Amino acid sequence: MTQTNTTGKNKKAMRVAIVSNGKKQSRRVASKLFAIFKEDKDFYLTKKDPDVVISIGGDGMLLSAFHMYERNLDTVRFVGVHTGHLGFYTDYRDFEIDKLVDNLRSDKGDKASYPILKVKITLDDGKVINLRALNESSIKRIEKTMVADVRVSDVILERFRGDGLSVSTPTGSTAYNKSLGGALLYPTIEAMQLAEISSLNNRVYRTLGSSIVVPKKDKIEIKPTRQGIYTISVDNKTMHYKNLSKVEYRIDSKKISFVATPSHTSFWERVTDAFIGDLDS
Ligand code: NAP
Ligand code: MN
Repeated sequence: MTQTNTTGKNKKAMRVAIVSNGKKQSRRVASKLFAIFKEDKDFYLTKKDPDVVISIGGDGMLLSAFHMYERNLDTVRFVGVHTGHLGFYTDYRDFEIDKLVDNLRSDKGDKASYPILKVKITLDDGKVINLRALNESSIKRIEKTMVADVRVSDVILERFRGDGLSVSTPTGSTAYNKSLGGALLYPTIEAMQLAEISSLNNRVYRTLGSSIVVPKKDKIEIKPTRQGIYTISVDNKTMHYKNLSKVEYRIDSKKISFVATPSHTSFWERVTDAFIGDLDS
């Protein structure tokens, strides 16, 4: 699909996929973008093997977009448009569509890439399920206290007792991990963070109490010591297992890439904007 653009040079049309949540405002933005791209020879609208995926909605929608295209991580870059306030995975507000189109038109392929999590679930019969997480993956036991041995690269760290544990990516550190009292990690740091969910600590039971930040070379393994129903979340999805043997977490060899336009906002700006707000008020 080679097209001649306005400058007269041969330029390959950018293959663009648009995904949107069901909200009225998101659908409005999506139709506007569809209309622009349909008429523009610099862009080619497609759901299959896109160069760029535009996610319209919030950070939650970007999680869905990531999972729709997680098999294309080597070639795809994401852009987020937020139809509310500015999010962590979203660089554009809904009134900045023209700016987004201009930035994509002058795009040179620059990207900002961030680590994601590899989740390996092993069942009692030896069956293995491999998943990827952009924010985090958690393991919980709902009906009784979860008792599990936690290993970091084969060192037994602790026998955990409590509601559960969460392992987050750097970009996921501002999500569930933050509610659990975990630290915010700068998104390019190649590490994952293990955070406790309501650990039991008394004279008999002891856990670390704080979250830990684990480097790329290490693996986190969580092995429940009791039979039961375990709930494993991966971003916005939840699964239940009654024959779970263990869950292992690593930093994945692949990363998620975003289009690095001038609108790719600084992480610290996002942090203060999202959690502190206007300092003058
Ligand atoms: P949701 O309950 O609709 O969204 C949870 C909130 O987290 C939304 O406000 C969402 O922003 C925000 N969020 C998502 N990713 C974020 C990130 N990386 N940094 C900062 N905020 C982020 O659920 P959802 O939309 O399906 O998203 C699933 C995520 O919710 C999970 O990955 C988990 O991190 C988070 N969660 C948090 C808690 C908690 O804090 N107690 C509990 C369960 C799940 P938008 O409004 O822009 O979508
Ligand atoms: Mn949401």
